[in-house]
Amino acid sequence: MLKRTEEELESFESDYPGIRETIRRIEAESLPACTHCSSEDTAKVGVGLVQQSMLVSASTTKFKLVPNKTNSMGDFFCNGCESFFDLAKAAGSGDEG
Ligand SMILES: [Zn+2]
Repeated sequence: MLKRTEEELESFESDYPGIRETIRRIEAESLPACTHCSSEDTAKVGVGLVQQSMLVSASTTKFKLVPNKTNSMGDFFCNGCESFFDLAKAAGSGDEG
């Protein structure tokens, strides 16, 4: 879900050309439902602390920014129950890692 207005995105765009398109792309993605609570309010997990990533994270609920990704985190984050999850682990097969 978009958390910023078009005007706000426009102002991000003047500082970071291309950021609006990045946010639109993330917004358009269909993400898996949470493996814990089945909520569809989920996000992709990204790592980093650069200003541009922080703006993207602040602009859409579909992008979860973490400073460091550990093994206990998954590739996805549920905004409903605030848990990380991973599709490979949930499937429970073929995991060799
Ligand atoms: Zn959940």
